[in-house]
Amino acid sequence: MNSVLQHDLNDIENILEKAKQQGIGFLNNLENIPTSNKESIDTNCHLNELGLGSLEVLNEFNERLAPLMVASPGPRYWGFVTGGSTPASIVGDWLASVYDQNTQAVKAQGGVSALIEFETINLLLQLLELPKTFLGGFVTGATMSNFTCLGVARQWFGSQLGKDFAKNGISETIPVLAATPHSSSIKTLAMLGIGSQNYTVIKTIEGNREAIDIDDLEKNIRSLSGKPFILISSAGTVNTADFDDFEAISKLREKYSFWWHIDAAFGGFAAVSEKNKHFVKGWEGADSITIDCHKWLNVPYESAFYLIKEQHTALQIETFQNSNAPYLGNPLENFNYLNVLPENSRRLRALPVWFSLLAYGKNGFRDIVENSVVLALSFGEQLTETGNFELLAPIRLNNVCFTLKGDHNQEKVSQFLTHLNDTGKVFMTPTVYQNRKGIRASFVNWRTTENDIRIVIEEMKTVVLELDI
Ligand SMILES: *Cc1c(COP(=O)(O)O)cnc(C)c1O
Repeated sequence: MNSVLQHDLNDIENILEKAKQQGIGFLNNLENIPTSNKESIDTNCHLNELGLGSLEVLNEFNERLAPLMVASPGPRYWGFVTGGSTPASIVGDWLASVYDQNTQAVKAQGGVSALIEFETINLLLQLLELPKTFLGGFVTGATMSNFTCLGVARQWFGSQLGKDFAKNGISETIPVLAATPHSSSIKTLAMLGIGSQNYTVIKTIEGNREAIDIDDLEKNIRSLSGKPFILISSAGTVNTADFDDFEAISKLREKYSFWWHIDAAFGGFAAVSEKNKHFVKGWEGADSITIDCHKWLNVPYESAFYLIKEQHTALQIETFQNSNAPYLGNPLENFNYLNVLPENSRRLRALPVWFSLLAYGKNGFRDIVENSVVLALSFGEQLTETGNFELLAPIRLNNVCFTLKGDHNQEKVSQFLTHLNDTGKVFMTPTVYQNRKGIRASFVNWRTTENDIRIVIEEMKTVVLELDI
């Protein structure tokens, strides 16, 4: 064995202890760590011939890189839609690296890791009150989940015309209908060879809504004259957390033949709360659903899952079968994750979620969701009260979409946001909503409290004064 590796091996307890201490140092100080950082690094780092050993590298990381890390798991990181690791999710994530299992086949050495993934999906179905007719698996994010689901949708469309697109390529135009698809679904259409511009934009409901207008949807369906199609619907749009009417879409299923996909990346978690589950009523009728765990489930990044109805498993295998590996056997008999999703080698990605669900239970996640909603409403109220801001849309769930009050301030919105984010006290993201420049604050993190809102409102008032708005 190489001598540096040997040294590290002998010293592993000490090394992991130091890494643990470092982690505790970061997590216990999150409140004070800035949410943004403008510093850069010289990326021309010279590769050391001999290697430094883990402890030396930990020192180097501490000196050069750790101080530049932003508090993205912290309570005032409100950009995008992102949670922050909980203690249990960190345990699961660390142990996934320690155990380093290849999570593929059920009937193989190390097969129990695939069963842990089954078990985790089963727990998630219980959390979200979805039927066991969905099978699921873990991928890196909602983008890959959308890709997996829409990949099977594409195969389904081909099968309706007696074609196998996976084998022979796409030989037909695939009608895709959507009202307010997330940018990642559009990207997915590009990756799947359907074409990012080749979808029909359905109207949204009149007024301040992003949800699909069911009448316009049906009008567009009729104009397809019975041709099958793919519908991409939303459970939680990123700007205003709007939801399509899933009961109405279920009714359309009785009349028309289509693949129904729901992007529920964060909004799916509305299902864990009595107060909010009405938003997803009827969603169990979908063919496929995308959900992100690194959002409202508050586990570390690169954790999402897809749910696809069991009746479509054969199509799913046609889409993703890793067919040039003969030792795999019959894919239906010998279940192997590599035949049903994009990746082949996979880590035990389910483990952080497994730990989280067992550790915090239904109540834990209900509390996180309901607390986020209360905080979003409170933030919306307080920012309106300052007299400097206005909401661009009503707050339906956990996302607050707002702007500087008055059209004359439109050109100051990005300057305001830059100044605000530069304080390092809070991080929000820019958006455009109904042709107006806006700002989004998304409440997802389990650590956020009313005190954080107070801190942020004060910062916002200060920036308003500084910029003479
Ligand atoms: C965040 C999000 C995505 C993309 O998720 P990633 O995990 O970043 O790939 C897709 N759809 C919706 C509705 C989202 O909120």
